[in-house]
Amino acid sequence: MSFDDVIQEINLTEVRERIQSATGRDVERALSAEQPGLEHAPALFSEAAVPFLEEIARRSAALTRQRFGRVIYLYIPLYISNECVNNCPYCGFAKGLDVKRVTLTPNKVMREAVFLHSQGFRHLLLVSGEHPAHVSIDYLRKIIASLDTLFDSISIEIQPITREEYLILSEAGVDGLTLYQETYDPELYKFYHRSGPKSRYDMRLMAIEAGGEAELRTLGIGALLGLGDWRFEAVMLAHHGRYLMRRFWRSRLAVSFPRIRTQSGGFQPKFSVTDRDLIQMICGMRLLFPDAELVVSTREAPSLRDNLIGLGITRMSAGSRTSPGGYLIRTESHGGQFEVEDRRTPEEVCHAICAKGFEPVWKDFDRQFCVKDA
Ligand code: SF4
Repeated sequence: MSFDDVIQEINLTEVRERIQSATGRDVERALSAEQPGLEHAPALFSEAAVPFLEEIARRSAALTRQRFGRVIYLYIPLYISNECVNNCPYCGFAKGLDVKRVTLTPNKVMREAVFLHSQGFRHLLLVSGEHPAHVSIDYLRKIIASLDTLFDSISIEIQPITREEYLILSEAGVDGLTLYQETYDPELYKFYHRSGPKSRYDMRLMAIEAGGEAELRTLGIGALLGLGDWRFEAVMLAHHGRYLMRRFWRSRLAVSFPRIRTQSGGFQPKFSVTDRDLIQMICGMRLLFPDAELVVSTREAPSLRDNLIGLGITRMSAGSRTSPGGYLIRTESHGGQFEVEDRRTPEEVCHAICAKGFEPVWKDFDRQFCVKDA
């Protein structure tokens, strides 16, 4: 049973009502549970939880320290192509935008990768728009096989592909998958994704499951914050996370919290997500998923990112560029996916992590210790 089937059985109107009608008593009940579950999610993400935010944050910080210690894992995105067959209005890679398109040659990918390796990164996230003709499985397989010699962990954020294709990339060296559903509200999803393969809400949900079936080590999910009501998205994200954890118990769940940023299309989010909302979402998620990776990228400003260290986040990017060739070619004409807010160098981010009493960790995984069933 796919999560698409599960979602059909969830009464989405009731979910919204439970968030809206949650009371302080419901939040207290969630906080007194030994392990808060999905039944507590509407209260934890509700307006009624705001007066309890300090307590929620304190518990989130304690849980994170207990499960992960005083460390922040670092990763870096490497954009390989801004070609895309979809037209998402919130993205700088949208098909209809007049930006210079480029797909890096394997040699150029390697040059960027060597530079990132020299900065200390050992966990790479390969990112591309969704264009199978430009970013084919064969192209990906070849570049991943050469990157595998440099990086201990390689994740991908590309177009949805099949289980068999994930297996090919896994064989080449991929161990993690990031695939945001963007919004869990089927009607809003339809509104934002009117054409192209991404218009299929169900196919997107099923693609992350294909990655689970291929036994990828990390499955990363997220909603693009600003497309819909964040409180609803947070509850649905929790449902999705619980489903993935139960079905793919060998994989680690990672949850990201991307807020919409300025991009060349000029899209303005209809729903506001304040810093306080983001903190409530991250800390509430930690209470529901004590062992999940919680990820924050350079979409957020330095001061907020620094304040999130120790609260619940376990993984951060640093020094990111969001256009293909962005590290060495440094040309904005290639069109970035969005503008980053934290423009500090990896070294500066490391100093900020240390200043908080945490240790930046470049490597947390070695494939040699990963044993799969024959
Ligand atoms: S969000 Fe993804 S699918 Fe949509 S336009 Fe951007 S790169 Fe393409």
